[in-house]
Amino acid sequence: MNIKAFNIVNLLPLIMLSSLSFADDTSNSKLHNIARNVSPDRIEKDIQKLVSFGTRHTLSQTTSNTKGIGAARRWIKAEFDKISAQCGGCLTVYYQSETISDDKRIPTPTEVVNVIAIQKGQSDPNRYVVMSGDIDSRVSDVMNFTSDAPGANDNASGIAGTLEAARVLSQHKFHGSIIYAALSGEEQGLFGGKIMAKQAKKEGWKIKAVLNNDMIGNIEGVNGIINNTTARIFSEGTRSTETDKEARSRRFTGGEVDSASRNLARYIDKIADQYIPNLDTMMIYRLDRFGRGGHHRPFNQVGFPAVRIMETNENYNRQHQDLRTENGIQYGDTIDGVDFDYAAKLTALNAVSLASMALAPTPPADVKIEGAVKPHTTLSWRSPSKSENPQLAGFKIYWRLTDAAQWQFSRFVGKVDQFTLENVVIDNYFFGVASVAIDGTESPVVFPGAAGSFDQ
Ligand SMILES: [Zn+2]
Repeated sequence: MNIKAFNIVNLLPLIMLSSLSFADDTSNSKLHNIARNVSPDRIEKDIQKLVSFGTRHTLSQTTSNTKGIGAARRWIKAEFDKISAQCGGCLTVYYQSETISDDKRIPTPTEVVNVIAIQKGQSDPNRYVVMSGDIDSRVSDVMNFTSDAPGANDNASGIAGTLEAARVLSQHKFHGSIIYAALSGEEQGLFGGKIMAKQAKKEGWKIKAVLNNDMIGNIEGVNGIINNTTARIFSEGTRSTETDKEARSRRFTGGEVDSASRNLARYIDKIADQYIPNLDTMMIYRLDRFGRGGHHRPFNQVGFPAVRIMETNENYNRQHQDLRTENGIQYGDTIDGVDFDYAAKLTALNAVSLASMALAPTPPADVKIEGAVKPHTTLSWRSPSKSENPQLAGFKIYWRLTDAAQWQFSRFVGKVDQFTLENVVIDNYFFGVASVAIDGTESPVVFPGAAGSFDQ
């Protein structure tokens, strides 16, 4: 998105250039190292292992140590435990489960089990960023829990990426906490995400971002396109928890394209430009693909910022298919359809985004804006707690033309909780505020009011 933003900027008066935020102005060597350390070989090995369980269907067997979802989740837990042992026990690893029954896709009582690994933050442990993938797989009939369902791309790629991010990030320390989540029950109705979102709500976890990875390894589209240099980020436009009153105020002041999830997508898009060579992300302005679901949705439904990260070019011959060859076409989600370098690239995008947010201070809360019938625009916000955010250097105000996809202008304003942009007219731009750390890392940009809030 950089190139496009730059062209627009070039057309603006010279005076605006002084407030331009160049792509490399916050470049951070720790984040470059994190991107470099993600290994396609380890991702390949993990996908191979996950495929070896035959099927990982949510209703599949749980007693075997080599086949079925029980064996798969025990292996994932053991991997997280191994990673934790190598960082002096830095991960808290546990099963999170609930018994589901009487559902169309889970008719008999079945334990839906997630594997959760938490890397606690140093100064703000109750603030979380989450990376997730799905354990379960399926074939053509969603109720078939015995046939081989390798699910190499859907979604062993997401689990392998999540494990690899844990390996790389557990070598570093962060201010906020990072959760690595292997969710289950996705194909049966997003049950694992619902279970996790419910626990997070109940226990008051301050989740500021969920990066849900669902299919991050396919580069050959069913439309004939082969491309390993783009990825998609899906995000909701307005929040599903918006009240009628909030919707009325949004109608007058904007916010349709500035939910916390959407600004999380912008954040990840910028990370791709800064830290991931040969990757440009498409921000898709919708919750998910047509008629399809993903595990970011249960988090959105209770108000948490959450996005779906995935490949650009899907291959429907490989998704949710019985393994077979028909009219010369090979069907099924087998490992030969996964590009490990590409999966590593998307994993690096996740890892750097998580690291950047966990290093940065928490996003500003209670962001307000005023300036009607005045030449100036004033933003105000609540400064985050000092003890939880000792790395806070100050705040940066961002703004952009109302039809621009990415933030275009910014101004660092220091450690204040209010700032007036002189002769910038409120009606002509969208505005937001980010928290900035001493090391240059930043929180996502928070759009004013309920529409853009990162608070829960
Ligand atoms: Zn699927």
